[in-house]
Amino acid sequence: MQHDSNLTAHWPSFVTHLECAMTGERHDADQIHNLSRANKPLLVRYDLAGVRKALSKAALSDRAPDLWRYRELLPVRDSANIVSLGETITPLIRMPKLAAKLGGGEILVKDEGRLPTGSFKARGLAMAVSMAKALGIKHMAMPTNGNAGAALAAYASHAGIKTTIFCPQDTPEVNVSEIALQGAAVYRVNGLIDDCGKIVGEGKAKVGWFDTSTLKEPYRIEGKKTMGLELAEQLDWKVPDVIFYPTGGGTGLIGMWKAFAELEEIGFIGARRPRMVAVQAAGCAPMVKAFEAGAEHAPRWENAHTIASGIRVPQAIGDFLILRAVRESGGFAIAVEDDAIQAALDEMAREEGLLLCPEGAATYAAYKQSLTSGQVKRTDQVVLFNCASGLKYPLPPVRRTLDRHKPIDYASL
Ligand SMILES: *Cc1c(COP(=O)(O)O)cnc(C)c1O
Repeated sequence: MQHDSNLTAHWPSFVTHLECAMTGERHDADQIHNLSRANKPLLVRYDLAGVRKALSKAALSDRAPDLWRYRELLPVRDSANIVSLGETITPLIRMPKLAAKLGGGEILVKDEGRLPTGSFKARGLAMAVSMAKALGIKHMAMPTNGNAGAALAAYASHAGIKTTIFCPQDTPEVNVSEIALQGAAVYRVNGLIDDCGKIVGEGKAKVGWFDTSTLKEPYRIEGKKTMGLELAEQLDWKVPDVIFYPTGGGTGLIGMWKAFAELEEIGFIGARRPRMVAVQAAGCAPMVKAFEAGAEHAPRWENAHTIASGIRVPQAIGDFLILRAVRESGGFAIAVEDDAIQAALDEMAREEGLLLCPEGAATYAAYKQSLTSGQVKRTDQVVLFNCASGLKYPLPPVRRTLDRHKPIDYASL
């Protein structure tokens, strides 16, 4: 019976202001924002001393198991503006057979495929659409490789907000269909996600769409941040040794890094941090290249290609935030080939019964690669992010048949 309580409770929000992630310049809360005045992402800031007084671990543990349990650290002030499709806490699943095979550590998969619309994009878009509702936004537009658009369409339709969505021509059919079915106007564009982003920018200038591109509005990070809050709570307020995160625009990696800082400030965790590993596909690895070059920014990656479409992001506006978090954490950036991604997907499904999405499989491939290179210890506790349900992707056909009219050799089946 208490399962709706997080949506109706009147917990205060402690938002004080928004801050430019590059210059630190202050921007007012409770107004419509895209980028900062310096054209960089905006981060939401909270009165964390106030949260520290208002929220205890014990009070938190009594709340219903969804992401709204962290309300004091979220931007939505009035419960009436929450747009929810059931953002459940996602399980952290042990992979004991693979861990034993690889030599001892602990492999935990955070399975984000359980969220509404089958991907962790639901976290970010639940927050962005709730804030859009609070701020009176009527028409949202977005460039997407698929999952973000599906989540935007779902939440915006639930809230009665119009959406126009652009995706690259070769976006998986299931994504384009779900976006359309969930009430958006969706178009395939002959280009990549950043080409789609340019169309959204022009539509914003010409007809006033709200630009919901990754990191071009402040609240998707706050939704994705809940992955870090949840993870720490699930591990009894400890952090793992290493987090492998499939990195496209980087919202989740940046968000989790922010979550750990906020948790330390409110006294829930100590100064220890997981090493953050940005996983990319070898066919689109701008962050890996910039990390290895010691650069602060990552130039556009030309001719981007990979089966892991969610991380096919040639250029990210939050590049400096991703690289900063990876470096401050003592982590690294790593690229994996598509055939290693496919092999990792097959292995986890066959041996542990968990069907990953290709982006999630990339994290397992990267983990194995970093064990071999010695970048990660065999005894480390590692968390791999499976960011979407494996069922959202094209699956290989199975051709075996059985003729029920002929004698059946049961022992051979
Ligand atoms: C969006 C997406 C990613 C990348 O997430 P970011 O936080 O934007 O870097 C990875 N995998 C899947 C399945 C996605 O949809």
